[in-house]
Amino acid sequence: MNESIYDKYEAVIGLEVHAQMLTHSKAYSSDENKYGEMPNTLVSPVTLGLPGTLPLANERVIEFAVRLGIALHCDIRERNEYARKNYFYADLPKGYQITQDKTPICTNGYLMIKDAAGNPKRIGIQRCHMEEDAGKSMHDVDPTDTLVDLNRAGVPLVEIVSDPDMRSGEEAYNYLMEVRRLVRYLDVCDGNMEEGSLRCDANVSVRIKGTEKYGRRVEVKNMNSMRNVQRAIEYEIKRHIDIIEAGGVVDQDTRSFEATSGTTFSLRSKEAANDYRYFPEPDLQPVLVTEAYVNEVRKNLPPLPDELLRKYIQELQLSEYDAGVLTDTKEIALYFEAVLKNTSNAKAAANWVMGPVKSYLNENAITIQRFPISAERLAQLIALIDSGKVNFGVANQKIFPVMISDSTKSPQEIAEENNLIQESDSDALLGFIREAVAKNPTKVAEYKAGKTSLLGMFMGDVMKLSKGKADPKIANELLKKVLDEA
Ligand code: ADP
Ligand code: MG
Repeated sequence: MNESIYDKYEAVIGLEVHAQMLTHSKAYSSDENKYGEMPNTLVSPVTLGLPGTLPLANERVIEFAVRLGIALHCDIRERNEYARKNYFYADLPKGYQITQDKTPICTNGYLMIKDAAGNPKRIGIQRCHMEEDAGKSMHDVDPTDTLVDLNRAGVPLVEIVSDPDMRSGEEAYNYLMEVRRLVRYLDVCDGNMEEGSLRCDANVSVRIKGTEKYGRRVEVKNMNSMRNVQRAIEYEIKRHIDIIEAGGVVDQDTRSFEATSGTTFSLRSKEAANDYRYFPEPDLQPVLVTEAYVNEVRKNLPPLPDELLRKYIQELQLSEYDAGVLTDTKEIALYFEAVLKNTSNAKAAANWVMGPVKSYLNENAITIQRFPISAERLAQLIALIDSGKVNFGVANQKIFPVMISDSTKSPQEIAEENNLIQESDSDALLGFIREAVAKNPTKVAEYKAGKTSLLGMFMGDVMKLSKGKADPKIANELLKKVLDEA
């Protein structure tokens, strides 16, 4: 088929993201919320929904949902009702999930992402609601049976539903990157797609460019990485266009992605949609989220990536690239913030964090949490350079490595013990300068005759005589004076 046919169409994509919350206990019981334990060891009668048990809403779940809602610029609902979503499945011991139906806690927000050309783009957030996870069916452990692990049953989830605002697989990928970064900054979810703590369903349709009406959509599930979400979407876009161009109609179905072939297949048709018989959860009171509570959560919110980015570019005058590197992970950003608390030289702080610090982390394959130099110490090193006592080269090559192996000593102490303090005392400097000038009477004459480029050669000699410790700025001025007077 002719390539240009694909250009006639525009894709429309909306994502539903489930994020497992990093709470200690489950959403409606005190069972531990922990990944990787022995199967079926974190399961109490409440999780099983046995007769006589009652759920209790975990307050942290509400706090986390509010945090996310604020960060996504959402309206936060005051009166939150819980609903039962009924269906039968082997890994759903209660026969229903407690979720929110008509009253999602967050509505009407947005998230800024980058579009395929790298420009900022606003993606609407329809709603976020609180719910609980089901258990896990394992089809590939036993050769004949499906095994069920109920440790995950009742783990709190927040479902983030976007508006159908994305227009390509790449935009969907960028959106997921931003969602992951955000939930990590907020400490709401660890964002690990491979372990399933962040899961994504993609709704995809196509329409002729320039038309308003959305096409018929499919929903794709079971993608366990962000790249696979992008691949699944790209596959679907092409499949839809091929069907439409052949005169057919896209079936409105729920599909599964198969990573090895990069294709999707139909799981069930949307026409035979499940009837979940939603009704208000009779065992839980509605939760009231007051404005005072929202403000309290807002006050304790950690710094967020887009705020920091704006601050670094506008207030600190860092380049967009530098600001991006410094806010890429929360841990690096917090370290940089801590350095900034101890120095006013933001540019130097940025250069140290992006240069020597990040190289050390990369070379040793460690994260900043295990970096041995504290933010205060790094700021002291910057101050030492700014005071003119050492230059960057000495700081980077001689002092920084000692600071890494011995975190007890200040950079000043290390510089003194190793005799690295720059000579800025004029008398001492003058000694080296006079010596350098006296050694080279012919060059002095050439200099005086107008060959000012010889200044560099004299400076080289002064540096050598001082064993690299001459303060270059002061030495340079004194040298000029001595030469002029010679
Ligand atoms: P459902 O409950 O059937 O999944 P929702 O109303 O919750 O339906 O919508 C789910 C997602 O589908 C949302 O992210 C929304 O943006 C997206 N969506 C809705 N219509 C379309 C469409 N025509 N094409 C692509 N995505 C769509
Ligand atoms: Mg859906």
